[in-house]
Amino acid sequence: MNNNGWPVAFRQLSLALLLAWFIGWMLGNSFAIIALALAGFLGWHWYQLHRMRAWLLNQKDVEPPESRGVWGLVFDDIYHLQRRQQKSQSRLKAVIQRIEDGTSALKDGVLMVNNQGNLEWWNTAASQLLGLKESQDLGQPITNLVRAPEFKAYFDASQYGEPLEMPAPTNSDVQLQFQITLYSLQDRLILCRDVSRIKQLEAMRQDFVANASHELSTPLTVISGYLETFIDHLDTLPPHWARALKQMHQQSGRMESLIEDLLMLSRLETTQLKEHNSVNVPELLNALQLDAIALSHDKKQHIEVEAQWINMLGVSSELGSAFGNLIFNAVKYTQAKGAIKIRWWQDDAGLHLSVTDNGLGIDSPHIPRLTERFYRADASRHAETGGTGLGLAIVKHVLLRHEGHLQIESTLGKGSCFTCHFPLTRTIEESEETHIN
Ligand code: ADP
Repeated sequence: MNNNGWPVAFRQLSLALLLAWFIGWMLGNSFAIIALALAGFLGWHWYQLHRMRAWLLNQKDVEPPESRGVWGLVFDDIYHLQRRQQKSQSRLKAVIQRIEDGTSALKDGVLMVNNQGNLEWWNTAASQLLGLKESQDLGQPITNLVRAPEFKAYFDASQYGEPLEMPAPTNSDVQLQFQITLYSLQDRLILCRDVSRIKQLEAMRQDFVANASHELSTPLTVISGYLETFIDHLDTLPPHWARALKQMHQQSGRMESLIEDLLMLSRLETTQLKEHNSVNVPELLNALQLDAIALSHDKKQHIEVEAQWINMLGVSSELGSAFGNLIFNAVKYTQAKGAIKIRWWQDDAGLHLSVTDNGLGIDSPHIPRLTERFYRADASRHAETGGTGLGLAIVKHVLLRHEGHLQIESTLGKGSCFTCHFPLTRTIEESEETHIN
């Protein structure tokens, strides 16, 4: 009601009372007539209230009832308010409709799940990918509708940094990728995509690399074998062949390492983790220390191992390959007489293996990219060491298969520290600390 309402109501009441008093004075009973007028006034208001209620309940969309005075103003104001609300409601509906049209056109599934884990809304693609039906699945727990144990574990863990990939519930040939985002009060927005094509291409690439490496390996072994024989009989050959044969032998050795690393990487990518066993890490490190000393050879570096007697659950060959890569890198990228320290220990955070050197170090912009295949911090340095550029990619894959991760700290010109972290659940046994030099 606008501001004029109350003066109008007051004026109406004053006029009615004045008239009643005048008539009562004429008839000689002012009190009774004023009471009668008040009752009539109240009755009129009650009647108008009744009309308003009936209008609000039954006739929201039509024009308000005709009325005079203060009630006419009230009806008009309510009517205008309703019209304004209807307009903003239609605007809101149009926006919602546009959003729904947009999400229906999406090829990716979008689902909204409330904080109880119940399905609140989803788009057409989600219906197709997950086989949902609005009539029966609305309000149902999402973990009842996508019944795979890995989905339930992923959903309940609330750790959504990495997406989950699994076969579609409706068709096991289709690979789906789920990415969950928390919003508002523990509500969840789930995006689900069909990644079958990407997976297929990835598998094709892996197969190609594995097959090509495998096919190259045999001829290369033959070539290396002949080159070795020639080198063994250099004295019987013309002297100008010596340099060329030695270089060919060196390069074929590099190609063999490259193929070995490529095959190792493709095995890590394509095969399931072998049976977990108790790996005697201190013993493994002792053996690697001897290999490192042999590799260090003329450089005469100080290579020290400090290991707690703790075994770890894992695959010995894979861990040996990962730790070996880190240790041999330290030897390769540390100058003569440098110091290399290998540590193996356990604390509240888990199991850790670190390889620290005071060698060449790495400039910080390179550090995040070191585990990429063929990434080298310094191409000229690489040419001298003859590395394959695959060592740290192998380390990363092995750690992933052992629930671990790699931490790299390095300062150019001062040295590096590569640390592998594993969860405590992989600990097998623990006893006294040992120090081996
Ligand atoms: P590579 O076979 O070239 O050694 P890696 O994947 O093992 O390949 O290492 C990638 C790059 O990381 C290396 O080319 C080198 O530049 C750098 N790097 C690795 N370990 C060290 C280290 N201990 N000190 C300095 N640089 C290192």
